[in-house]
Amino acid sequence: MPDDPAPADPRATGQVILRIDLDALGENWRRLSARARGAECAAVVKADAYGLGLAPVARALLEQGCASFFVAHLSEGQELRKIAPDARIFILNGLPPDSCPLFAASRLIPVLGSLPEIAEWAGFCRAQDARLPAAIHIDTGMNRLGLPATDLAPASKLMQDFEPVLAMSHFISAEDRSSPRAKIQIERFGQARAELPPMPASLCNSSGMFLDEAPFLDLCRPGYALYGGNPTPGAENPMRRVVELHAEILQVREVEAGDTAGYNARWTAPARRRLATLNLGYADGFLRSGAETSLGVRAFAAGRFCPVVGRISMDLSIIDISDAGPLQRGDRVEILGPHISVDELAKRSGTIGYEILTRLGPRFRREYVY
Ligand SMILES: *Cc1c(COP(=O)(O)O)cnc(C)c1O
Repeated sequence: MPDDPAPADPRATGQVILRIDLDALGENWRRLSARARGAECAAVVKADAYGLGLAPVARALLEQGCASFFVAHLSEGQELRKIAPDARIFILNGLPPDSCPLFAASRLIPVLGSLPEIAEWAGFCRAQDARLPAAIHIDTGMNRLGLPATDLAPASKLMQDFEPVLAMSHFISAEDRSSPRAKIQIERFGQARAELPPMPASLCNSSGMFLDEAPFLDLCRPGYALYGGNPTPGAENPMRRVVELHAEILQVREVEAGDTAGYNARWTAPARRRLATLNLGYADGFLRSGAETSLGVRAFAAGRFCPVVGRISMDLSIIDISDAGPLQRGDRVEILGPHISVDELAKRSGTIGYEILTRLGPRFRREYVY
């Protein structure tokens, strides 16, 4: 008997397959990098690289030459440090109380967004007698993280004790090109920077890079567009598709007019129908709310869109395959892919593509293709 069992066949294990195209991811980074002209193109890989897997995504981006990464949590930065020993790693959520030694130990750069954080980092650097790097988050309208204008002068003083390497702010609604907000934020950011010591600056997330104003400054911070999300909603997606999700048919059945399907009998067959049960449910990020919207989510199978009928269960969902070609147990159906984009599934689910990606199920089998 061999020590290790043969690699599990996903068909035999009942797993849903999430295919992640690292070649497309790399090309998306190159496109964004070219778009940024002279500015550095970093990568935002928080939340397990938007659900696609931190390690393989980070490795693929490092291979392209990406040298700066943003994550949300200290723990994510510690994880990324093992994969990227030389990269700059910024921690967007800033400095938890008493965490300075952990930042220093893993050479992580906190994004400091309040006077207490700045004072703590400055105090730590004084005690260590080392001017360690930090980024400064300036609030230009989100009222979420970042220094308000009134705190800039006292913050500036404290910065003598450490090395401020990046001033940044974040757009409220860069994906809405008709909104005047981005312009106002760009102005406020410029005014705030004038009150701080000179340092490189960063404003753009994915959609920010596609604004008419496109303030690339010194560094851009795309996330969503790297993973194939459309940074220009309403217009054609300039990015390559990165994810494909295929569920499997567990059973096919015929139902008669008047029969119901799923919990609470929320769907009633209007006529004789053929239904297929899929191995995909809300525990996999196939949002339960997606079957409750007016559009409704659907799969693509045997040449047709097949609407989900009834409620989405934890591990299962039911689609109407009456109009599709022949389908049987074991056949795979597209949930995300050439016919259904992340943005399309999101719209039909009543949410945004970011939530679709970051909820992609932990029990999927992630297959990386190059
Ligand atoms: C998540 C995040 C980004 C990346 O945004 P995308 O819209 O995914 O490109 C950039 N900056 C900050 C501060 C973020 O929190």
